[in-house]
Amino acid sequence: MDQQTVVRSAAAAFLSLGLAATVGLGASGCLVAQDINYFGEVMPECDYREIDPPSYKEADLLRTTLRPECKELLEAILPFDETWAGAPAGLKDKLLEAFQFVAAFPLKLPREGRLFGVAPYAIPLGHYCIFDPIGYEDECLGGGGAGGEAASVHQLNRNLFNYLLARIDRITYDAVSTGKTASMGPSVDGWLLTIANPFWSPDTWANYISRPFIRASTLVHEARHADSRMHDICTDDADLPGRAACDPDLTGPYGLEMTYLHAVMGGAAPLVDAAGDPVLTDSDMEWIMGDMCGTLTFRFYTHYTDGRQLPPELNALFDENDCGDFDAEWAVAALGLERPSATGVSPGRPLSGSEEEAEAPEGAQDKYRRLLMW
Ligand SMILES: [Zn+2]
Repeated sequence: MDQQTVVRSAAAAFLSLGLAATVGLGASGCLVAQDINYFGEVMPECDYREIDPPSYKEADLLRTTLRPECKELLEAILPFDETWAGAPAGLKDKLLEAFQFVAAFPLKLPREGRLFGVAPYAIPLGHYCIFDPIGYEDECLGGGGAGGEAASVHQLNRNLFNYLLARIDRITYDAVSTGKTASMGPSVDGWLLTIANPFWSPDTWANYISRPFIRASTLVHEARHADSRMHDICTDDADLPGRAACDPDLTGPYGLEMTYLHAVMGGAAPLVDAAGDPVLTDSDMEWIMGDMCGTLTFRFYTHYTDGRQLPPELNALFDENDCGDFDAEWAVAALGLERPSATGVSPGRPLSGSEEEAEAPEGAQDKYRRLLMW
């Protein structure tokens, strides 16, 4: 039994023992299984920030930012089952790239816990306890310590990656499902992460699915399910009425996905890659905000609530704007994002290939919102 196997087995034991306790902790999300430092198992090999910053903006969908050394470590530590032998070429690598992304893509939490620049402290405390429990020591850990300092980028990544991996007991490939990218549920083996073909496929609409931050946000979303946070049934105001695909508030999977995508924009927007190009293009930011807007607009209606359950400022924002209104210029102003300018690079200028990707087919964004996980 090698070291990774020992770590993995310890994690499984921890999770099976800890499951009932996790349920009992309720909505705070403050169970942070940092006893096992998965992050330390894959670093620095998975850290492309300093060695080869991510540059995935190519029309070639097979291109990946997954580093071979990182792939090897991730494959040793992640509990893939035998179904992956039948997975199509490229899918597993895109999944591994998404795990690397969670581990290494720079993060910065929004100022004052705002979502879309409004609704101060809309981001639940439980999310801060996942990303930065030491920085919020009094609230997350009951205080009594020397007092935490705000986490560094590295620590935010470490905390989130450890949170994610501590919640996955098995990863299986679903060759049949075409309606969802991923799902998480209890099984005899513990929490089972299922990945289906729409998670990544060369014949799936490139402009959306090809972006690794969207796949990474899917993993973060699914991890929240393993805190025993399942979706409620959507009412008719949602885009999936009658389906178990809505949350009653921001503390659940969709809310954590929103917090993560916000943190991706905050962390990466100021950065340039090795070629001097922005790590996040304007187009990337607009896709993130489009994804977030669709989720916030349509996935917060349940039978347990009356109307969309978001802070009033957020409800007003999404009632008054179409998702397409949130362009990069808007994000920079409203979210207080920094953009690279001192380098002389024009922020978000078209990069080779990135603007050549297929135009969105009519209704494509709606279609792909329905492909998202639930
Ligand atoms: Zn879900």
